[in-house]
Amino acid sequence: MSAPRVLIVGGGPVGLTASLLLSQRGIANVVVERRDETLRAPAAHVLRRRPMDVFARLGVSDDILRAAPHLPIDAITWCATFGGPDAGRLDVSANSSSPLDPVWTNCPQNLLEPILLDHAKRCPEARILRGVECTDLVPGSTSVRATLHHGDGREEAIEAAWAIAADGAGSPTRRRLGIPMLGDGPQGRFFMTHFRADLRPWLEGRSGPLFWILNPDSPGTLIVHEPERSHVFMTIQRGEPDEREGLPTRLRAALGVDAPFEIVSIDEWSPHVQVAERYREGRVFLAGDAAHRFPPSGGLGLNTGILDADHLCHRLAEVEAGRADEASLDRYEEACRPAAQANADASFGNLLRLGAIGKVLGRCTDLGALEARLASLSADERRALDDAIELQRSHFVSDGHVPDDPRAA
Ligand SMILES: Cc1cc2nc3c(=O)[nH]c(=O)nc-3n(C[C@H](O)[C@H](O)[C@H](O)COP(=O)(O)OP(=O)(O)OC[C@H]3O[C@@H](n4cnc5c(N)ncnc54)[C@H](O)[C@@H]3O)c2cc1C
Repeated sequence: MSAPRVLIVGGGPVGLTASLLLSQRGIANVVVERRDETLRAPAAHVLRRRPMDVFARLGVSDDILRAAPHLPIDAITWCATFGGPDAGRLDVSANSSSPLDPVWTNCPQNLLEPILLDHAKRCPEARILRGVECTDLVPGSTSVRATLHHGDGREEAIEAAWAIAADGAGSPTRRRLGIPMLGDGPQGRFFMTHFRADLRPWLEGRSGPLFWILNPDSPGTLIVHEPERSHVFMTIQRGEPDEREGLPTRLRAALGVDAPFEIVSIDEWSPHVQVAERYREGRVFLAGDAAHRFPPSGGLGLNTGILDADHLCHRLAEVEAGRADEASLDRYEEACRPAAQANADASFGNLLRLGAIGKVLGRCTDLGALEARLASLSADERRALDDAIELQRSHFVSDGHVPDDPRAA
């Protein structure tokens, strides 16, 4: 491989997509990823139409569709526990009647990443380094110099014409460049419990993948990623001592069915509503979570990042080919930053609107009280609950705000 024109820091979905996009245009690139392995726990899982168009152009979408679990996204369910009773359902079948519908592709991130990695590695234009950390990065007037720390302790100096910081929400590169995030910091703290269980017996006639658990003893969101084996339960941290030890009990209470389960991992995370003050520092560009952090309500984080990569790599390729000048790269921020801000605001709005459902039901002290409340709703209360559920539609069916297609400009 010739000397890289573009250094990509971070080999998550956005960095790997950037690598594929550059390779497709014949641009030598190097991806530096500090993790040895691809992501194990599913995080993002819904891929929207425009990012899937990008994957189709890259010849990756068939593999994604093959890997996508065959779970129809027909309805979103609010329920006392996963086993019921249901408080109500939002029918989204008009938007997505099949798991392979191009509107929504349900492919958990832990299945997506290996596919992107596999394709990226096959491109002769790309050098993919894993278990390697970028420990320094200095943009100069004609190139970017970086220091890489290999797993065996070796240090490597590297130079490229451009760099893309796709190194995630904590982005060490963004910090190094002194680019602040604007917006609101942590909106609570959550546990993401990834667990294995065969939930198929309870999914008959109840399509997933999202179940909003209202049980006052263990409220949260259950995401059925792969019905026969892989799921996530997201629940708020209460700030109690030894809280992690109580998570199996909380998961059992959320499930409300006699399904044996095995906890694979417990991660802690905090939603933020933030966008980077600027997307560019000379020859370095921010993309993906390095540039914006949204609550997962709306599933827009990964999707927005894929479109960042698409827009930026197209512009970089035009400059590299001599068809555009370097100033045109400013249009990346002009197009993608407002879209990210709108998606940050929309994701936060989605989070706030969820409260409308609890408002109708009022405060229930335990599961028994909630079940009694659901069983005794008056006709007016039932209507109010249905309206509150209907209010959530844009949360689930929106494609989010997308930047202009740079190819159309
Ligand atoms: C619970 C949850 C649910 C979500 N659901 C959705 C959803 O349904 N839809 C959606 O679109 N989004 C969703 N998201 C958001 C989505 O997971 C992120 O937006 C996505 O992972 C961002 O990808 P990225 O490549 O920008 O960053 P990351 O996936 O964070 O990748 C960054 C990579 O950079 C590497 N790195 C960091 N520093 C260095 C360094 N110095 N040197 C080398 N490598 C480095 C990291 O190891 C990491 O692999 C969800 C997130 C969470 C937490």
